[in-house]
Amino acid sequence: MNLRFDERDEAFRQMVRSRIAQILPWDISDRHRRLLANTSHLHDQRRWFAILDAEGWSVPAWPVEHGGTGWTALQRFIFEDEMYAADAPEFHWIGSHMVGPVLYTFGSKAQCDRFLQPIRDGREIWAQGFSEPNAGSDLASLRTQARREDDVYIVNGSKIWTSGAFEADWLFCLVKTDTQGKPQRSVSCLLIDLRSPGITIRQIRQINNEAHLCEVFFDDVRVPAENLVGEEGLGWTYAKFLLDHERTTSSFIFWIKRELTRTRELGRTVVRNGRQLIHDPIWSGRLAVLAAEIEAHEWSVLRVLSEESSGFPITAAASVLKVKGSEIQQSITALQVDALGEQSLRDYGAESLDASTDPIWPDLYQGRTSRALITRAATIFGGAQQIQKNLLAKLALGL
Ligand SMILES: Cc1cc2nc3c(=O)[nH]c(=O)nc-3n(C[C@H](O)[C@H](O)[C@H](O)COP(=O)(O)OP(=O)(O)OC[C@H]3O[C@@H](n4cnc5c(N)ncnc54)[C@H](O)[C@@H]3O)c2cc1C
Repeated sequence: MNLRFDERDEAFRQMVRSRIAQILPWDISDRHRRLLANTSHLHDQRRWFAILDAEGWSVPAWPVEHGGTGWTALQRFIFEDEMYAADAPEFHWIGSHMVGPVLYTFGSKAQCDRFLQPIRDGREIWAQGFSEPNAGSDLASLRTQARREDDVYIVNGSKIWTSGAFEADWLFCLVKTDTQGKPQRSVSCLLIDLRSPGITIRQIRQINNEAHLCEVFFDDVRVPAENLVGEEGLGWTYAKFLLDHERTTSSFIFWIKRELTRTRELGRTVVRNGRQLIHDPIWSGRLAVLAAEIEAHEWSVLRVLSEESSGFPITAAASVLKVKGSEIQQSITALQVDALGEQSLRDYGAESLDASTDPIWPDLYQGRTSRALITRAATIFGGAQQIQKNLLAKLALGL
């Protein structure tokens, strides 16, 4: 297995780096770098995706006939690495990494014609409606029901923790179409317009004071039967396909690498007891351990991407990356908050970003505590930590 980037990879990196520098609007990357993007995040993401679409780069992993780039897995890795390093908005992964691949693999031609282009150019944003109040890890217990009546499904029930539903256009939703049969054969996948009559969306206030997560209620919502993906009762098959399809997304490697750079900057900028924090042996020792872990994590991602590692069960590999990636997210944001000390309690979002008003450039302070608080959720979303470890025990260790 060759784990080195060769000359061609490096040339590719230079090509995408310089092109991103040309096409990424300065105001978008500036907001993103300063973590000021929360209020305009979706707007920026849509703008950036329209630009990437014009470039032919908005859905690199899709097959070429559906607008993909034809790049190798390693080239796609390099491209995303460069996007993060340039402070570009990240992929809106529910559309580009979930809905798109499911539709071009299992959906009808009409669904592909209707939905793929607005995902590619960022016009339509998707949310994921899997979890319910009594069905998270145990998704088989989901109860939202879709009853077929002629050419529509009538949907009743509710979803919870639906990220971004309040600003999304469509919901990729798991529903029960058969209340009698085995759980594995009774779940189907519906594409639901979030502006349909009968839908109520309530935002949930989070620990970091944002309200990105939502509850979604369905009260006799009429969904055209043509919005059923594939066959009735095969919702699990499609959900599992997603897991196998995007095995490295949950590693959060690009986000983590960018935060490592920012943490180093913080260490050089913060002065404590008359010296830069980076020269404090305890803080910089923690940073060094994290940097080594991140490098190992990156190699694990690359190993999973390498075709030669395909002997390892795919789901187990994805679980390793999820467990490690979520732990690193929490450690790195905790280190940032520790670097800021009592300053981390200040809300810089409300203040002017003027270096002259503060001895330390406030950019670096911006949103650090909020990020640290919200990364507590990293060991819950996308499959809770204990569930991932159970999977690992079963699939990788045969326990
Ligand atoms: C920030 C955030 C964003 C999210 N976004 C979405 C989204 O967009 N769409 C969506 O559908 N869902 C979303 N979720 C929901 C997420 O998928 C669930 O929270 C997750 O699957 C856990 O389910 P739960 O909350 O019901 O907890 P539970 O399943 O009740 O688990 C509670 C605890 O018990 C443990 N546990 C449960 N079963 C076992 C077991 N068999 N063995 C050992 N331990 C076990 C879990 O590991 C966890 O620690 C999001 C969650 C968060 C926090």
